[in-house]
Amino acid sequence: MSSLGKISNSLLLIFLILTSLFVSWSITFQPAKAQPSTSIPNPIFNYYDLNYVSSNLTALNGSAIITRGLAKFLGSIYMYEDFWLQDQLNQSAKVAVVVGFANLTIPQPDALIEVRGTVEYISLSGGLFYINASSWEEVKNVILIGWDAVQRDHLFEMLNSGRLSNLTSFVNQNGRLFNITIMDHITDTKAGWTQILTGYRWWRTGVFNNEYWFHSIPRGYTIPERVENYFGKDKVSTAFIVGKLGHMEIQDGTGDAANGRYTHEAIYRNLPSALDVCTNGARNANVVGPSMLQFLENNKDNHFFAFFHFSDPDFAGHASGENSIEYEQAIELCDNWLGQIINKLSALNISQKTLIYLTADHGFDEGALSHWNAPYIFLATNDMNVNRNGDQVDVAPTVYYGLGMWGQNFDPPLDGYPLQVNLPEGVEQDRENKLSDTTKPPEATIVSQNGANIAATVDIRFNASDKYLSAVLLLINDTLKADGPWAWQSKETVVATGTYAWDATSVDPGSYIITVLAFDEHGANNGVSTSTITVYKGVIPEFPKSMILPLFLVATLLAAVFLKRQRNGHASSAKAASRFPQFSIDEQCL
Ligand SMILES: [Zn+2]
Repeated sequence: MSSLGKISNSLLLIFLILTSLFVSWSITFQPAKAQPSTSIPNPIFNYYDLNYVSSNLTALNGSAIITRGLAKFLGSIYMYEDFWLQDQLNQSAKVAVVVGFANLTIPQPDALIEVRGTVEYISLSGGLFYINASSWEEVKNVILIGWDAVQRDHLFEMLNSGRLSNLTSFVNQNGRLFNITIMDHITDTKAGWTQILTGYRWWRTGVFNNEYWFHSIPRGYTIPERVENYFGKDKVSTAFIVGKLGHMEIQDGTGDAANGRYTHEAIYRNLPSALDVCTNGARNANVVGPSMLQFLENNKDNHFFAFFHFSDPDFAGHASGENSIEYEQAIELCDNWLGQIINKLSALNISQKTLIYLTADHGFDEGALSHWNAPYIFLATNDMNVNRNGDQVDVAPTVYYGLGMWGQNFDPPLDGYPLQVNLPEGVEQDRENKLSDTTKPPEATIVSQNGANIAATVDIRFNASDKYLSAVLLLINDTLKADGPWAWQSKETVVATGTYAWDATSVDPGSYIITVLAFDEHGANNGVSTSTITVYKGVIPEFPKSMILPLFLVATLLAAVFLKRQRNGHASSAKAASRFPQFSIDEQCL
């Protein structure tokens, strides 16, 4: 071996020792968080894609930026950079990062991180642009696991009797378990998962419960869609792997949507085109489980968000009851698959960078086959920043927090708060008040023009009220016409007064049912109030008897004129017919 070879071998050995020392040292440290400073005002950080940053460093010089990439420890002639941030896809897009000035720890090699810092230029050693970091955080994968219809009390009984070994060790080893309560909606599948997957109260999504949904969840509102938009379609993988068809439809007119009263739109219709993997179907854990493991296997090197849904407890509860052996066996099966998911993450060596949030859409009525009033559920997680109980509307914000997306401008603003931060003053009390309100709103009053007069624009007026009135919808023949804007007044009770101008010019004659649905922001066993009136358009009324003789005489006269003209061959029968006076609605009498 040449002396040069010996030198390079020794250098390689030193490098390997230093690298292993560095790796073992850095594993014991958690990424540091930015410390809020009282003396220096926080600069406004703008997010830029790393591709953009690397090619616009001169223009960005002095700017406070946020960007993301892989931490790479490239051999370098520069003394002052701590590592390089390299784009996930484009290896030539990279920028040096200094964390030493802020006393931050150094990330793991190849960790996907988000860095906040200022673009600066140093003229030493030939000059170099770098990001002077003030904070960085590892970008985590998130798996949101759904155990459909698992009642909190029953879960705790099973945990305490040692029957859920995987959940027990998940929570005990490096996890947490908190209470979640549904405070604002009916406890069923559509309402529950819609709120969990969006972070919105129902009237923003249009999905109130299994019966009352008026359209799909608006495009872009769900967590996986936002993840795709936020991180970039080709930089993140998303999955929606669901064990139900009914109430979890992804295609219009399928499952329960086939018989929808107000729409046939599938509530998750926008997901298949936006996500990488999107499947549903009435199938048990042993069918969906393997495809979940396959997703993890396929995406072990990618950043990902996955929603994994198990329907088994819900089916067993409806079939055999909440206190049945079957219900418990279904929960045990879910626990078994939780174990398999955790083992797979471990085998793929991605446990450390994957957060798991496990929750249910609703509980179960004690000892029953139903879950009409079942607001008590739970959230188990390995996110050690989660530190309080919450409302179901807090689950999506919690997931966003785990993904590093909290603090974005969500449009519309989310209705909940992450379980990693405390609730603003007064919010908890307000939620409790609504939960304890079990009275549905009184029926709204509706006034509309009726009968012959509805040929043109019809003003429909209503008045709805309730202590916690939150939404009023106006429907005609079960089609949603408007959910506002109404005039809202809030005193002892909340009153909504509305006028809807119904253009009835071109609607067919017949009867029309006008419905006003009034929803309060209610406890889980409260419902919607429904008021209806029926109006008629163009229904030919009975003639008063006194009109029969004069009309008969006019008709006879006209018939005679018509026959005369026919004989003279002046006009086709069609044209002649048009000379008959047309019955218009205004000329009819009631
Ligand atoms: Zn159910």
